[in-house]
Amino acid sequence: MSDFVNSFMEMVRAKNPAQPEFIQAVQEVIESLAPVMDRHPEYKEMKLLERMVIPERIIIFRVPWLDDDGTPQVNTGYRIEFNSAIGPYKGGLRFHPTVDLGILKFLGFEQVYKNSLTTLPMGGGKGGSDFDPKGKSDNEVMKFCQSFMSELFRHLGPNTDIPAGDIGVGGREIGYMFGTYKKLANEFTGVFTGKGRSWGGSLIRPEATGYGATYFAREMLKTRNDSLEGKICTVSGSGNVAQFCTEKVTQLGGKVVTLSDSSGSIHDPDGIDAKKLAFVMDLKNVKRGRIKEYADKYGCEYLEGKRPWGVKCDCAFPSATQNEIDANDAKALLDNGCFVVSEGANMPSTPDAVELFLKAGILFGPGKAANAGGVATSGLEMSQNSIRLSWTREEVDEKLDGIMVAIHDQCVSAMNEYDLKGNYVAGANIAGFKKVADAMIAQGLV
Ligand code: NDP
Repeated sequence: MSDFVNSFMEMVRAKNPAQPEFIQAVQEVIESLAPVMDRHPEYKEMKLLERMVIPERIIIFRVPWLDDDGTPQVNTGYRIEFNSAIGPYKGGLRFHPTVDLGILKFLGFEQVYKNSLTTLPMGGGKGGSDFDPKGKSDNEVMKFCQSFMSELFRHLGPNTDIPAGDIGVGGREIGYMFGTYKKLANEFTGVFTGKGRSWGGSLIRPEATGYGATYFAREMLKTRNDSLEGKICTVSGSGNVAQFCTEKVTQLGGKVVTLSDSSGSIHDPDGIDAKKLAFVMDLKNVKRGRIKEYADKYGCEYLEGKRPWGVKCDCAFPSATQNEIDANDAKALLDNGCFVVSEGANMPSTPDAVELFLKAGILFGPGKAANAGGVATSGLEMSQNSIRLSWTREEVDEKLDGIMVAIHDQCVSAMNEYDLKGNYVAGANIAGFKKVADAMIAQGLV
């Protein structure tokens, strides 16, 4: 590691104690940027990186609510408004018991470069709460969302900060939060993305992250004159991203053989076809059950407490959460012949796992690029809200596909420019960074 990276990271570690995920995310970007900083002394002179690792604003607030027994409960709410150099803050809200400042700073930091890669004018932000929607009634989820928004609403606006969903925040939660925003702000505006179809949402937004990660894998495969046709694929998670990744991989001729949740994984060697996927969608989105019920229904293997990376595959689509592929998982994937990893989740591979993938020379698409289809389609939802028109399913899907191709092309150009062929991690970081950096320089010290 260069002296520059070492001393910079020492400063970041000292200033952000007990935030390992944030430090991990920053380190990856800074390592990729070392050659850029050598070529552009003006970035160093303007203290760009020092500025970029500090969010423009962090809002932390109390969220009190009453459960169904009438007992008071309280959670912590957050919004990290990380960087608005190229557009208003944009990024999802996560409701999960593991949410804390460090997790949201890692997600917000990643979001800045991801949004820049989409080619659309969006800054980066992220937020959420340590509230766990799992096991709560609809009424409790609604009360929590209303209390959360009674503070957050004053910091949002269609030209200021526009949240969306993430882990634990789907259509139901966005509905409750948008309703509260509308009431308090007294205006119907595109202040959330991922809205329902009849109240300003975009077709294809629910599908976009999973579809996008699949399109990105298709583009990587194309560079080797290959395709998803006939490929055995493992997918982790069984939420929004995993479901639509499974759908698109299947449509493009691949066979998805695994899904998972935080309790374990299912392995169905016959493949999860459209009918079985409909069962999963009903199980997860309506009944809110566990993935084990899939194994019970279809009589396939259930791997209790295990992630799916020991299952033989050609392509893997981690789509659950951060750090879900460690070095052992990466070794297992490589030993089993996996040669494509397209990250649907944010930072699902640990640094050791990424190093193994890069050393092995496989097609490794980092989340910042591979899962950017979600926020890109959120950008398309914002455009439709602004012009008060809605595009058809085909129109949005075509635009999403075009954006994923453009993201892939930008990664490849940056890799070629810096002689880092095959390293999509560096390609994505460099391409995402340069646009934000140049905008920050143009706007002066703000
Ligand atoms: P969902 O809440 O819809 O699904 C999350 C899935 O991951 C569930 O199956 C969940 O299982 C599992 N999971 C969550 N936490 C853990 C954990 N600690 N260990 C094991 N499994 C876990 O979320 P999404 O599908 O929206 O998000 C998945 C990933 O994709 C996240 O990393 C998110 O940041 C990223 N992402 C999402 C985007 C979107 O548009 N939704 C956009 C870009 C990235 P269980 O139900 O048991 O908790």
